[in-house]
Amino acid sequence: MKNFSNYNDYSTKEELHFESKAVHGALGTEPLTGAVSMPIFQTATFRHPELGESTGFAYSRLENPTRQELERTMAILEGGIKGFAFSSGQAANMAVFSLLNPGDHVILSDDIYGGTFRIIGDVFGKYGIEHTYVDMSELDEVKVAIRPNTKMFFIETPTNPMMKVADIHALSEIAKGIGALTVVDNTFLTPYFQKPLQLGADIVTHSSTKYLGGHNDTISGIVVVKDNEEIAEKIHVHIKSHGSQLAPLDSWLILRGIKTLAVRMDRHNENAKKVAEWLRTQPKVQKVYYVGFEDHKDYAVTKKQTTGFGGMISFTVDSFETVKKILKGVDMIMFAESLGGTETLITYPTTQTHEDTPLDIKEKLGITDCFLRMSVGIENADDIIADLDRAMNA
Ligand SMILES: *Cc1c(COP(=O)(O)O)cnc(C)c1O
Repeated sequence: MKNFSNYNDYSTKEELHFESKAVHGALGTEPLTGAVSMPIFQTATFRHPELGESTGFAYSRLENPTRQELERTMAILEGGIKGFAFSSGQAANMAVFSLLNPGDHVILSDDIYGGTFRIIGDVFGKYGIEHTYVDMSELDEVKVAIRPNTKMFFIETPTNPMMKVADIHALSEIAKGIGALTVVDNTFLTPYFQKPLQLGADIVTHSSTKYLGGHNDTISGIVVVKDNEEIAEKIHVHIKSHGSQLAPLDSWLILRGIKTLAVRMDRHNENAKKVAEWLRTQPKVQKVYYVGFEDHKDYAVTKKQTTGFGGMISFTVDSFETVKKILKGVDMIMFAESLGGTETLITYPTTQTHEDTPLDIKEKLGITDCFLRMSVGIENADDIIADLDRAMNA
């Protein structure tokens, strides 16, 4: 049986499929007692047998067995050498941007998560880190934005909330050519549907608050480094210095969520397709943004790099009146921020997730006052559609 000292040995699980790896994690069982569910090691510190001897654990800001199991499970699922679990997706992205030095330049997707705008503008701007937002689904726009000091591409794909798709392989080739790192925020599709590190990216980040946790019950973030020990060490120094690590209870919640990731993602995928197709037939709906439509601009890239479309849909309606009607009228569906949980949530990006996105960028993207975003849950799709129908058309 495995024990804590041979934690790094998960070679025996190499041959398993993704679904099985997700269920069984890194160690899977707890080595001392055989507990099938990795216990919540709710302790701040660890007793040493004698001078120079250690169980491998010293202090929970540095290492904690529950968090380590989550970090190793995520490294396995994304295919990297090292995973890190943070107290939020924001903290995870903060760690990644901290790899940059004053004077460096980063190119970002123009409709990334609203909080990422805040990190790169408000927090890192004053340290002399430059940035450019571009439509990363257009390779030529990315090439034009490159400067001599460009050190990182930060990609969200599909984007939030416009559902644009960036070609991870093509972008990481361009980045390699100029000595820049490629980082992919894989929150929307998770490694079940998309594996950025296999496509050429150097680092993957997540808001595991979303699909990985999957139950709208805690906040957390993940970073996985593909193969660069030096980068992994820098992230390690960042997390232990900033103290932005995930607590044991929350680590356990995310580990539990990951066990059902595959079946949940399949259902999200199935339901979103049904809801997106229904929305398209609605007279009050003007445009539906969904990566699973064959006539989506980037459909070919999606088919090439992912094995599913995920559960996210955005759409515009005919008037602000209809927006208000929907948000007030939904019953089972909840008007709430966030995404990726079992419950269907509907969001109003212009004043919620993208409140801090500069107005000119919002206008350019099309995040108007008639724009809604939906995270399709795992309920019965007919109930989701019936609820929307009643709220919108009654
Ligand atoms: C929610 C989200 C974040 C931020 O994560 P938190 O867990 O809320 O801190 C970052 N990126 C994407 C794509 C997100 O959806």
